[in-house]
Amino acid sequence: MTKGQQQYEGKAKRVYATDSPDYYIVEYKDDATAFNGEKRGTILGKGVINNQMSNRLFALLAAHGVANHFVEELSERETLVRAVTIVPIEVVVRNLVAGSMAKRLGLEEGLELKRPLVEFYYKEDSLGDPLITAETAEVLGWATADELQKIQELALQVDAVLREFLKERGVILVDFKLEFGRTRDGELILADEISPDTCRFWDAATREKLDKDRFRRDLGGVEEAYHEMMTRISEV
Ligand code: 5GP
Repeated sequence: MTKGQQQYEGKAKRVYATDSPDYYIVEYKDDATAFNGEKRGTILGKGVINNQMSNRLFALLAAHGVANHFVEELSERETLVRAVTIVPIEVVVRNLVAGSMAKRLGLEEGLELKRPLVEFYYKEDSLGDPLITAETAEVLGWATADELQKIQELALQVDAVLREFLKERGVILVDFKLEFGRTRDGELILADEISPDTCRFWDAATREKLDKDRFRRDLGGVEEAYHEMMTRISEV
């Protein structure tokens, strides 16, 4: 599959066409942004880790029946994926209170939720990705009621699979963000990435942060945290 024209450049990835309309090539960068692009930097080696970690986790999810865009890792930073049109909704699953939920509701980080919570945000940087209801997405035609129901179920399934996998590796899955897309024939599949950029990972013993919050909050040890997570995920 040859790499064609660049289709899109995001904050952390570039997406290229291929010689087939059904496939794209994703290339992961080391660029890091936070707070809607206000904070910028580089996390050395991040692109390699996020590529490899996402692929490992997408393969795990596929083995558990969660259809996703991963096809084949092409190089350290490049992966062949199924081409999709992204649904403009960021799907966040939370197991513990952290981040924007802690801030919005004045709650302490680390509070356990009675059950996993699925939230929807409108994927629009210029508005800072506002929290929306499923009904908002439906009435605005961003997704159908059936798609939203399926997204909710898949998000909870992803949470259950990843939570268990990470627990065995001494990591608490605090929360994470997913994106879904539609293939040319309308199939809804999981897309984007699953990495320390898009998840909160805490060490189970010390509650040390092993994710992008180290960059967002200037905690230091950013590269080390990404490497530590890659090592844990590579354990069999
Ligand atoms: P929060 O809403 O607390 O900021 O984020 C919840 C979870 O979703 C965190 O794991 C965070 O990394 C992820 N997340 C939410 N929005 C975004 C986003 O726009 N980009 C990335 N990379 N992750 C996000």
